[in-house]
Parts: sequence; C-alpha cells; structure tokens
Amino acid sequence: MTPPEAYRVAVRALCDFTARTGDLDHRFTPSSSAREGIAGHMLVAGHRGNAFETELSLCGRFEELTVTGRADGYDPTANRLEEIKTHRGRLDRMAENQRALHWAQVKVYGALLCAERGLDSVTLALVYLEVTTGRETVLTETATADDLQAFFTTHCRRFLAWARQEAEHRACRDTALRRLSFPHASFRAGQRELAEGVYKAAATGRCLLTQAPTGIGKTLGTLFPLLAAMPRQSLDRIDFLTMKTPGRRLALDALVSLGANAPTHDDDERGGERGGERDALPLRVLELVAREKACEYPDRACHGEACPLAAGLYDRLPAAREAAVAQGWLDREGLRELALAHRVCPYYLGQELARWCDVIVGDVNHYFDANALLHGLAQDNGWRFGLLVDEAHNLVARARGMYSAELDQQRLNRLRRSSPEALPRPLASASRQWQALVRESAPHGQAASGYRILAALPGKLVAAMQQLASAITEHLGEHPEQAGAELQEVLFEALAFCRLAESFGDHSLCDLSCPGRGRAVLGLRNLVPADFLTPRFTAARTAVLFSATLTPAHYHRDLLGLPADTVWQEVESPFVADQLEVRIRTDISTRLRDRDASIAPIVDELARQYHQRPGHYLAFFSSFAYLEAVMGRLREVAPEIPVRTQRRGMPETERDAFLAGFASGGRSIGFAVLGGAFAEGIDLPGERLVGAFIATLGLPPFDDFNEALKACLDARFGRGDEYATGCRG
Ligand code: SF4
Repeated sequence: MTPPEAYRVAVRALCDFTARTGDLDHRFTPSSSAREGIAGHMLVAGHRGNAFETELSLCGRFEELTVTGRADGYDPTANRLEEIKTHRGRLDRMAENQRALHWAQVKVYGALLCAERGLDSVTLALVYLEVTTGRETVLTETATADDLQAFFTTHCRRFLAWARQEAEHRACRDTALRRLSFPHASFRAGQRELAEGVYKAAATGRCLLTQAPTGIGKTLGTLFPLLAAMPRQSLDRIDFLTMKTPGRRLALDALVSLGANAPTHDDDERGGERGGERDALPLRVLELVAREKACEYPDRACHGEACPLAAGLYDRLPAAREAAVAQGWLDREGLRELALAHRVCPYYLGQELARWCDVIVGDVNHYFDANALLHGLAQDNGWRFGLLVDEAHNLVARARGMYSAELDQQRLNRLRRSSPEALPRPLASASRQWQALVRESAPHGQAASGYRILAALPGKLVAAMQQLASAITEHLGEHPEQAGAELQEVLFEALAFCRLAESFGDHSLCDLSCPGRGRAVLGLRNLVPADFLTPRFTAARTAVLFSATLTPAHYHRDLLGLPADTVWQEVESPFVADQLEVRIRTDISTRLRDRDASIAPIVDELARQYHQRPGHYLAFFSSFAYLEAVMGRLREVAPEIPVRTQRRGMPETERDAFLAGFASGGRSIGFAVLGGAFAEGIDLPGERLVGAFIATLGLPPFDDFNEALKACLDARFGRGDEYATGCRG
C-alpha cells in the first residue's frame, strides 16, 4: 500500500537538490529574459507538428514523496519528450554540471511520463534555443521505462531523508506556532488593533494597507499575528520585506522576542529581551543580504577558477545546508560564519536557504524586482505565503526604480576607446546609433543639449545595444580574462535596458538628457509600477503593507496595483497632542533664491533650541549643499555644540556609527538630508533623540519630467496633480 503523502516537491527542486555537483559557475552567459523564454518555447512548439502537446502536467509518487512538474512538450507520434532551454551565446561554453542537471530534469519527466502513459520507452530531447539567432541544438537519447524508473527512484531516495526531515520540521513548527503567545504582558495601545487586522487579512486571503503611528510596535504587531496564522492558513513562508537595512534588524529583534532560536550570545546583547522562560520557537529565520554585501571576494567572478568559495560549492553544499537548517537562526553574521566554516559562498548559501527557511527577512527587491528570488521560488514551488512590507509608503518609489534603467553614452565611448579587437563593429554600430539619436532629438538647427522626453523608444539604438550585449557575451566566453569592469558595466547596463524595453508601455516614459557632447543618457523610467506589481500581490495569500504615513489609500492602491478588495485600516495614535510640541517658523523663506539669507536665522533657531533643552537632535535639509552651509555656520557661531553629519554615499558601517552616536545621556545635532538613509526607519527611543528640525519640504521640482509624470497619472487615474506631487508618501 502506498503510504500517505508527506511531502511534495517540484521536479526542478528535486533535481537541484540531488543532481548538482561541482563548481558554481556564473560565467558570462547571461540567461534569456522571461519574455524571451516564453517566446522561445512558443517558437520551438511552432516548429513541431499538430500533435505536439505542450506544458504537460506530470505527477508521480515514491513512498511518501509526491513529485510534480510540467514538461515542456511531448510528441506522441514520435514518442519524444522535450525539455526546452533558451540561452544566449555559445552552447559549448555551458558547464558540464549544468548540462547534467538538464538531463536529470528530462529523465525525471520521462519516468513520470512513462508511468502515466504506460510507455515502454521514450526518446528524451534537450532542445537548446539560442534566443538571438533562433538556432536550435537538439541532444537526444532513448531510454527504457525501467531505466528511467530506476533513475527516478535513485533521486527520490536521495531526497527522501531530507523530505522526511522537512515534513517533521513543518509539523513541529506548526504545533509551536499554534501555541504562540504574545511576548509581553500586554499589547501597546493600537498594537492589538493592528494585530487583529493582520490576522484577519491572512484568514480571509486579502491584502491589507494599514496606517499605524510610530511607537506602537508595528514590527511585532504584524509578525506576531502572521506567525499565529501560519499553521491555521497552511502558509509555507513569510517574507518580511524592508526598505532599508535597519528595518531588517528590527524584524530580527522582534523574532527573537517571540522565541526564534537565536544563539545564546545574542540574548545577552539584547538585554534579555527574549525572556528566559520562553520556549525556543522551532522557526528557521534567514536574513537575505545583497551580493555586494555578502561577497567575500568582491574583485573576483563567481566561478570555480576565480573564487575559492565557488570551486566545488555544490559538493560541499549538502553539509552546509544540513548544518544551516539545524542552526535555524541565519542572520547575516550567523550565515557568514557557517558558510565560511563549510567553505561555500555566503551569498549563494543564502539563496539556497531561501528554499528551506520559514521566515525570510530581506529587502523589498528580493520579492518585487523583475527577477526576484523570492517570487521565483514561490512560483516554482507553488508556495502559499504571506508578505509583510515595512515602511510601505516608499514602495511606489522603490518599485519605480526597479523597473527603470539607463543607457550612458559616455560609458560606451570609454569602452570603445579601450575596446578589445573583437568588438569594434558592434561598438561602432551602437556609437553611430547614439549619435543619430542625439542629432535627431535636437530641435531643428540647434545643438543637442538639455532634457527631452521622447515620443517612442529609439528602436535602432535598442537593437544595436542588444547586438552589442550578445557580442560582449560571446567575447567574454572566449576571453574570460578580459572581463574588465568597463566591459561588464556596459554589458549589464545594455541587458537591463533591453529587457525593460521589451515591456515598454504607457506605464513608463523614455527620456534623453544631453548635458554635453558625448555625454547623453537615455532613460527608461517607470511611472506606474502597478503593471508590474499586480501579479506579485495576487500571488501571495496575503500582503500587509504598513507604515505611519499611507494616506490617501487610493494613491497606494492605484500606483501599486493592489487588488480591488484590499482592506484599509487606520490605527489611532495612542499619543496625546501634549506629548509632541510642534513649532513652525513661517518667517524664514527657504526658497532657492532666499537660501543664503535663511542660513543665519536657521542657525539661531538650532542653537537656541539646543541650549534651551540640551540633548540629541536631528536636523534635516533638502540637499547636502544646504546642509553643509548651515552646519558650517553653526560651527562658527556655536562651536560648543557637537555636530555630526551624513555624508554622500555613506557606507553601512559609517551609517551604523552615525546612529550609534545618538547614545543616551549625550548631546549633539546630527545633520541629514530629507529622503536619505536617516529620514525614516530609524529607532532612537527615549533620550537618544529629543527633537528634530526640518528645513524645507521635499517637494518635486517643476520640470518636464514631473509634468510628464503628472500627465501620465492624469490619463491613467484622473488624479495627475494629486498623485504626482501632493501624496507621494
Ligand atoms: S564569494 Fe563573491 S565571488 Fe565568490 S562566489 Fe560568492 S559572490 Fe561570487
């Protein structure tokens, strides 16, 4: 008798787990885009006969393991099963272990097909389609049903011990979450209302847009109810997404307070917040970090010949994975320590563990970006998951950035001057198209300069950049030692731009800036991210977007493409007006023309307030230039006041040090810019911050871009003025 199903795995996930060996190899073989992939599959299917079946759903069992997947195509007349892979560049550069993985996938599909249709044998075909040339390379092999079944059994057996461990972990996790209690004696005012809203959203499978004041404990107030809902709603994962790094720390601290199994030394550092008597929660928590922050060899490429942590990575991965899930708590430091102990790359280990952790704390781009890891995994594995998005008023701006790209003429020219012999033709062609675009876009008889919005995408330049990207990819495949920074920058810029150009529509505009000869920049700028984000929200069982400032709700609903039944919740502030003293100086003009005159009265105001009530303050300005002018004057007239300042492009360590300077009992004025790293999402409780000064409003300037934005939003939503300026969050 077949045992009841205990675990379900997709064919791809099974093979990734059991059939990968050797080096990590991310050499210069940029994959095709999603659209190219779909078009490629259609192209191949179009070349086959009418009987060709596409997207075959297949399913099979091995003991308590269920394996599911969709094979790309099957021709019953030829009895041929096809797995289609789109790629760019030369196929012979594909690493052997990658090819072996593809064979493993088609063999598992073959085993499932033979079992389902009672076939004795089948021809397996790996069809490689080069997307720029449309050339097909087909590798075939005929296999008997018995051989395929034996292959299937071997791989399922390799996975089964892990599957059993996963099923056990899931049962244990869900039992503990059913008993989860709030970690403090009582909720803060407003926090219970917030928690109830989140729980209800998860129970009803809806999105929630919730505005709740700072200070009520939103992080815990959203994590606690969603964790409590996890077993009841059969959620596989929770993704906690933040806009900036400090938000990740708050989420991790909240998880510790709920009993997530942080190592003992962390308990001490957090002042016993976790509570000694609380049972450890069997929850696997992963902090996802960007590649540039996790990489141990930033000057190397990600393949075995260049990086020691990529060499043999897949051979050492099983032990690292095993140790990681046993550890359970995988914040940035914990993950790095573990990865290095197993001599694997911390960044790629994090990517692997995103498959096996319960709560993932990462940046919003890990879910919303075009090629986001968390979205891809959820799709591939059919996960049921909940999203928590902190500081959600920033999501419109962040998402616009994710779906925008630029081409830089100067960068191309630099590369052209230093280009290797193999690339003169595609570089010259791209350069010619640049010159033509700049010339054609200039007003009749005038030199090209300034800024203008283009009526359409410059198709010839886009095509030339596409060809250049293919040529660079080819070239780097032949000469990996020539992978200089300039070549890679142009390649990635061209690929990003061309991919977005594929989906250009009325959600975006194309603009051209010409600050000087040879220095033009072509921009593809997203204005309405809703078109890209709607499927991301509908894929989630629930999505909770929270912030202290989310009004008006319709702005976020429209611009983000939230479902029509999204719930709006506004949590009352528990603070009384007396707790906050707001003073507005209407006699100081901060208009651009009055800036110089405003410096002295602003400095007087800062000094007067500081002396009246010494302590830590933050002072915000609309630009670094304004900030520096005021700070310089303050230093002259009141040298006794300690000042610290934000710098342009401040690295994370310096940002942490800046915030650490706001220690209880100290005194200073910290200078920062509006909309910058310290403008929100920082937590300076009690005496660590006693007041803030805000000079100027962060309003967008009146210019062609903002006028075009307004026109676009007016055409789409009938609220151009309001959406372009008044309610940007
Ligand atoms: S350590 Fe850096 S270079 Fe090496 S594989 Fe990881 S990300 Fe790539």
